[in-house]
Amino acid sequence: MAKDRSFAAKMAKGEVESNTCSTCGETYSTLKVISSEVKDGRDSVGFKEKFVAVCKCNEKEIYG
Ligand SMILES: [Zn+2]
Repeated sequence: MAKDRSFAAKMAKGEVESNTCSTCGETYSTLKVISSEVKDGRDSVGFKEKFVAVCKCNEKEIYG
């Protein structure tokens, strides 16, 4: 399960502290966010992927 491992690695780094929000008590769902990145002096555009933990506290900000 490579994907689970990479998520676990992010949790280990402290990006996501636990699977459950201590504020609202909801279990986080993870959302993959892809943003484009323009590199200086180059025509190429890179894409950066990150995972965002979503719970009731921030779902409105994230989903709009
Ligand atoms: Zn929350």
